[in-house]
Amino acid sequence: MLMDFVLNISITISMIYLFHRIQYNEDSAKLTSDTFQATLMVSLAILLLFVPIEYRGYSFSLFFVPLLLIRSRLYIKLIALFILAAAHHFLTGGSHVEVLIVSVLYIITILIIPFFRSITTQQMTWVNLAFTVLLLTGIHLFIEPLGWMQFILIIFMSSAVMFTASIMHADIHSIIHVLDRLNREEYTDHLTQLGNIKALDNEVNRLSQRSETLSLLLIDIDNFKMINDAYGYKAGDAVIKQITGLLKNYVPSGGSVYRNSGEEFSIVLADVSFDRTVRLGEAVRNAVEHTNFHVGKSEVIRLTVSVGIGFRDTGGTRRKLFKDADDMLHAAKKMGQNQVMFLPVIK
Ligand code: GH3
Ligand code: MG
Ligand code: MG
Repeated sequence: MLMDFVLNISITISMIYLFHRIQYNEDSAKLTSDTFQATLMVSLAILLLFVPIEYRGYSFSLFFVPLLLIRSRLYIKLIALFILAAAHHFLTGGSHVEVLIVSVLYIITILIIPFFRSITTQQMTWVNLAFTVLLLTGIHLFIEPLGWMQFILIIFMSSAVMFTASIMHADIHSIIHVLDRLNREEYTDHLTQLGNIKALDNEVNRLSQRSETLSLLLIDIDNFKMINDAYGYKAGDAVIKQITGLLKNYVPSGGSVYRNSGEEFSIVLADVSFDRTVRLGEAVRNAVEHTNFHVGKSEVIRLTVSVGIGFRDTGGTRRKLFKDADDMLHAAKKMGQNQVMFLPVIK
């Protein structure tokens, strides 16, 4: 009996862990999908069917514990119940009356559970406790009389398995959540929430393989140091955020904006003509020049940006795209700032 209990706990822990581990290698998005959760719980339930807890002549399976943990839509829960009932019948030849009692209790539970918003581990343990007590009462009344010790021990074991499973499940989810956030933050600029230089690099790589042309606009705020010096670093940050909003408004759909560092941004566009790229650069430069930037409660300032354009059509390299844009940005600064510079395309 003790061995059965230990087996139930060990199988629960290792299945939940292994399933998540294998899936995480492939795609972390799948881990949070409804069908993935349901598949995990059904597989675990089937395994638990094979290790019933034998005590004083009655074999009691805890397969309903993973079923209770499925947090999907109603029809997925019903399919899971159907699979489990079939497995119970064909694989282990268990009692039909017991499956019937489990099914009725399960259907009542899943109809009630949506009324609890975001059910916690503790609540889940209580739901499972009530479920186990009712199930044992059903067995006692309709299958065979159970003794007090059977009641107490099975309730304890069922609660322990539910507690372990739901804690494990919740922990793995928080770990995945943190890992996803770390991954996202690695490519996100903290101040503006734009993609950072790594994200820009990835996007250019991705687009290089599938697009005919690539346009890169490097946009650098002119004399930004003076804003920091005159109004403070916080005001500088506020200006960076306002420029972010402006750039996002100007970037056409399919294009993307990045903050490379400090006060330098980029816009990447695929399959946009050279003329349209230059017009976009000019539109951004002009919009910044005519925008009031707030640096204090009621204080506004005007500023300008310099824009360097790199353009790559068939044959050009990624390196040249970045180099051209960078050279052109320097040229724009040299020419007195507030300029859009580009290498003429020779056809
Ligand atoms: P130029 O016209 O040649 O571009 O001159 P500049 O002063 O704009 O450029 P420079 O690159 O010399 O200086 C950029 C300044 O941006 C220096 C740094 O203090 C400031 N900076 C960098 N990152 C941040 C930031 O996150 N917030 C604020 N407020 N300032 C920043
Ligand atoms: Mg600058
Ligand atoms: Mg700069």
